[in-house]
Amino acid sequence: MGYVLIVDVSKCHGCYNCYVFCKDEHVGNDWSPYSKPQPVTNHFWMKVDEIERGTIPKVKIHYLPQPCMHCDKPPCIPACSLDAINKRADGIVLIDPEKCNGCGDCIEACPYKAIYFNSELSITQKCTFCAHLLEDGWKEPRCVETCIAGALTFGEYEDLKDTIQEKGATPLHPEYDTKPRVYYIGIPKKFIAGALVDHKTDECMENAEVTLKNLITGNIVTTNSDNYGDFWLEGLEQNGLYSLKIEKPGYHSYILSPIYTRKDVNLGDIYLFSKH
Ligand code: SF4
Ligand code: SF4
Repeated sequence: MGYVLIVDVSKCHGCYNCYVFCKDEHVGNDWSPYSKPQPVTNHFWMKVDEIERGTIPKVKIHYLPQPCMHCDKPPCIPACSLDAINKRADGIVLIDPEKCNGCGDCIEACPYKAIYFNSELSITQKCTFCAHLLEDGWKEPRCVETCIAGALTFGEYEDLKDTIQEKGATPLHPEYDTKPRVYYIGIPKKFIAGALVDHKTDECMENAEVTLKNLITGNIVTTNSDNYGDFWLEGLEQNGLYSLKIEKPGYHSYILSPIYTRKDVNLGDIYLFSKH
């Protein structure tokens, strides 16, 4: 029951439209009783983080849009001694701007850091899922409507639960145990990358076979180095343990083990030695 938001990280290209149109909707606009005007600066009701992975030159970037998670077990609510925060039957968590005195206890309590202080009005504020628009018959908040990449999907849990299950959508930081209503899919897994070089000629080594074995499951994946000698093995486990073997006819094999994917791994330049 109630509203949920699904964020497909693989579709987000970091245009920040969701952030900008959140500003367009809320800055200077009083949507009482749902929210008072958002200040122009220092509020990120839809925050888009740029996440950089790997090390130069093997770097990949993705973007992580994060509104208030409208948690079903929200620590912000018990933190407020004035009962200014409430959860509606449709799942939306709202801060009542008339009751809030700006003490900031909810800011401290929210593990997602989704609440901001409005120094002009002396209240705390956050994403409302554009509750004022939903009341007006809108089907989705402004951020969702404006995302031309289709990275944001909003609707009733009943209508989206199959997508959530089929795509294995999960909250950010499930360890916080707050039962968020914002689900994520397409968050990149870890990668191992490197560049192969012929020791004798110092040239990029194309078309060497790179085999990666998961030391825990025994699964094996292979790829070939490209014409720059580069190879990428993606979609790997967080905290996985792997061994890597590189083979090319006429060259000594190169073996590296174990490789731990707590972070994305850039192996740098790897020199292969000719047998002759
Ligand atoms: Fe990503 Fe869509 Fe937001 Fe653009 S509008 S930053 S594509 S979620
Ligand atoms: Fe409250 Fe933070 Fe959860 Fe939003 S993300 S409902 S502000 S605890």
